[in-house]
This record gives sequence, C-alpha cells and structure tokens, in this order.
Amino acid sequence: MKVTEHIKQAKGKTLFSFELIPPIKGKSIQELYDNIDSLMEFKPPFIDVTTSREEYVYIDKGGLLEKKVTRMRPGTVGICSSIQHKYHVDTVPHLLCGGFTKEETEYVLVDCHYLGIDNVMALRGDSIKEERYFTPTEGGHCYAKELVEQIRNLSHGQYLHETITSDDYPDFCIGVAGYPEKHLEAPSLQTDLKRLKEKVDAGADYVVTQMFFDNQKYFEFVEAAKNLGINVPIIPGIKPVAVKRHLQLLPQVFRIDIPQDLIDAVENCKNNKEVRQIGVEWAIQQSKELKAAGVPVLHYYSMGKSDNIKAIAKEVF
Ligand code: FAD
Repeated sequence: MKVTEHIKQAKGKTLFSFELIPPIKGKSIQELYDNIDSLMEFKPPFIDVTTSREEYVYIDKGGLLEKKVTRMRPGTVGICSSIQHKYHVDTVPHLLCGGFTKEETEYVLVDCHYLGIDNVMALRGDSIKEERYFTPTEGGHCYAKELVEQIRNLSHGQYLHETITSDDYPDFCIGVAGYPEKHLEAPSLQTDLKRLKEKVDAGADYVVTQMFFDNQKYFEFVEAAKNLGINVPIIPGIKPVAVKRHLQLLPQVFRIDIPQDLIDAVENCKNNKEVRQIGVEWAIQQSKELKAAGVPVLHYYSMGKSDNIKAIAKEVF
C-alpha cells in the first residue's frame, strides 16, 4: 500500500516508521532482521531502505594498484522485498540519480513493480566519498526532480524509449527529501524550497525531511512550504545523537545546527553510553512535541542500530 494511503487511513494519528541501511557486502542480513524484530511492536506501516553511493577501491595487481568502482552496500530492492515477505509491511527503497543510468533506473522500477513494492524515495544522492561535489553519472539524472518525472511517467505507460499501452501501469507513491535548514548546496532556504516545489509539481506525493534538532525549524519549514503551495505530507526525520563526535560530524556533513542545550548536555557526558542516553531523551522530547502538533509520521534514522529507536518509541507510541 502507498505511504499516502497509510497516512489517510491513520486519520490524524501519528505513525511510526524508520529507515535501515543494507549490510556491508558479504555480511549476513540477520543483524538487520534483529533490528526490525525489536521495532515491530510499534507497528511501522512502512520501512525505508537506503541506497549507498558507489566507492573507489584499489586492487593490487602485482604491485600496480588498479582503481575500480564498487557499491559496498548493495541489495536495497532485494532487502525491501524480503522485508515485505517476512514482516508484511510496506517498504520504500531509496533510488538515486548518482551511480545509475536512466535505463538502469527503469529496470529497478520494473523489478519494484513485479515485487509488489508500491513506494519509492527519489533522491539525487550525495557525491562519491572521494569527490567534493556531486557529479552526474553519464546517462543518469542530474537532479531528483528528473528522477521523479521518470518514475511518474511510468504511471502513464511512458517508458524511456517507448510508450506502452497496458492494464498494469507501475503507479508508485513517490517520496522526496526536504531540508528545514536548507540543502548544503542551495544558495538560500527560499531557493531550496522552490526546488522542493518543483519536485512536488513533477509528481512527488510526500516529503521526508533531513534530520533537525530544533522543532521550530521544522514548523517554520512546513509553514513556508505551505505558503509556496506545497500541499503534500511533510514527514519529520528524527535522528538521536549517539556519540560525542556527532557534535562536529552532523553540522559538517549535513550543515545543520545543534541547539546549545543539547551541545552542553552532550559535552557534560563522561562517555558515549551517556551521550546515547541524552540523544534518546532529546529525541523523545522532540517526538512528543511533533506528535502533539499532529505530524503524520515520525520517521527515525536508525543507522543500523535499533536500541535507541526502541527506547524512544516506547515513550512516544
Ligand atoms: P535534489 O532535490 O536534486 O537537490 C540537490 C541540490 O540541487 C539542492 O541544493 C537543490 O536546491 C538543488 N537543485 C535542485 N534542482 C535544481 C536545478 N534545477 N538547478 C539548480 N539547482 C537545483 N543519500 C544517499 O546517497 N542515499 C540515501 O538512501 C539517502 N536517503 C536520504 C533520505 C532522506 C529523507 C534525506 C533527507 C536525504 C537522503 N540522502 C540519501 C541524501 C541526499 O541524497 C542528499 O542530501 C543529496 O545531496 C541531495 O538529494 P536531493 O534528492 O535532495 O537532491
């Protein structure tokens, strides 16, 4: 079922959802299942599975290093399908512009349709680790909006190279990313919001936000989006701080602010176990306020570990 249908059926009740990262190539999927198992009591109607960008690796060829490109965490669509089969919940595979040609994207979408996956998250993707800026893949899309257009075209039978008349069009519910503190490359929040509006106008059905630690930023973002005519659900993304290093890392990577009270609390911690507890408490307060404000879903970035998300969900749902 579509994410937007779940939201409609909830009739104003806030839903719980989370996102998972595929295991590193060669590792068992069991740890991922263990994380899902411990969160199922909160009845997530859908679970997101991220897609990672490819990376450069250097293979030793008798003293000469050969540069190769590989994806360290493949398997997004397979994992989505296995979750749907095992847990009977909907899944949302993340699709990226970066690293995929338009043809490869079309094949992934066909796979999703055959596997009974009704939702996809359309994203540009970050730059490859070794590159400073995002470089579009040859034959791929430059911006998430173009990916949304490709996905939406399928619901009219419009494939890349042919238009097909059918009684079985892939009609995906499409999510896109939104940034309450603006995307790091955008020249201003207003410009970034205009880009978000373009994604919605191209056919996106809902928005999931980048993490934020100050709810006011989310409320202002939703208000500004509404003023621009963005009328789809805007789902807040919540990430509990887990280690002291997050104080530097999160602002550096995502260009987000961390409130002074949270910084002070984390800095006063003696170890990362205490930081994890502070992160949980902060996220509980954030979640409770957002729920009271009637957000459609609270979406948690689990980063592959569920203990802190479980502690939060226990207090909120
Ligand atoms: P876009 O919407 O394409 O925007 C990218 C930038 O380009 C923005 O600054 C925007 O303002 C600007 N822009 C858009 N259109 C134009 C235009 N026509 N001309 C000029 N500028 C323009 N990354 C992953 O690699 N894997 C994941 O699974 C993943 N999941 C995510 C989930 C969520 C909820 C969020 C919020 C982010 C996720 N990301 C993921 C990160 C995301 O890929 C990055 O933030 C990326 O840098 C931007 O993606 P986007 O889809 O927002 O891009």
